[in-house]
Amino acid sequence: MERAIFSEADLHIHSNASDGQLNHEEIVMRASELGLAVIAVTDHETIEESTRAYHFAKEHPELGVEAIIGLEHPTDKGHLIILFKNPQQALSSKNLPRRLTSAICQAREYEALVIIPHPGLKFVGIDPFLPAVGQAHGIETLNGFSHAFGPLRGLVIADPFIVEQIRKGHGLAAIGSSDTHNLDIGSARTRFRGQGAEGLALAIKQKATSAYLNIDSLPTFSDYLRLAVTNWRKFGARRFLGSLANHPFIFDVAKTEAFQSSDEAKRKHTFEP
Ligand SMILES: [Zn+2]
Ligand SMILES: [Zn+2]
Repeated sequence: MERAIFSEADLHIHSNASDGQLNHEEIVMRASELGLAVIAVTDHETIEESTRAYHFAKEHPELGVEAIIGLEHPTDKGHLIILFKNPQQALSSKNLPRRLTSAICQAREYEALVIIPHPGLKFVGIDPFLPAVGQAHGIETLNGFSHAFGPLRGLVIADPFIVEQIRKGHGLAAIGSSDTHNLDIGSARTRFRGQGAEGLALAIKQKATSAYLNIDSLPTFSDYLRLAVTNWRKFGARRFLGSLANHPFIFDVAKTEAFQSSDEAKRKHTFEP
């Protein structure tokens, strides 16, 4: 009997090419340790480190990670995650339109996948996005970075229930991404039936993905401290503070607040297609 193979992806990761702490190698290695089959480094405006991650993963098939070249693009209506199908067609923000609808159009011409990240972030609300929502492929029903804010998360991301209604109404795939700027890669994940970047793209187009919070592999405070000390030695005091400032303390609050009763949290925050 044939068994269905499920894989997991984290499609929204920041590296030190923008406001993240890790470089492409560290991200791919950590993703491998955490059992992620597909990742995308999606820095603000630049594909530099994302392209490096793509090549590094390709040169190290033993790690079992495929890296898609992606970008977090700032549009006039808010951020957009663009995942390029063809590395030769990958673009940074300076070569993409700033108008939301035009950016989605151009991305789709290149067969890129378009994901709406952290819907409702920073009081902008989801409303400005609504006219273009139907043109996207997926929406982050779970964003790890927002959940990391624990008690404040209702302020930084729209109610998951509302996001789920929008997702269903517009026929989008459910996406779970960490939006990590630090060590918490895979804190939220996209699960799909199939393998590799191609299997993932197919599942997203068929809206056959599910999003979930991975509460079993969250980094501890001492993990952050270790990274901070390493970064201090390598880059100086600013990176030491940056490594800590990202959110280890807040994550601790989140763990007790949102992640503690794991079964309940999973029931509450897992959305099946
Ligand atoms: Zn963003
Ligand atoms: Zn982001």
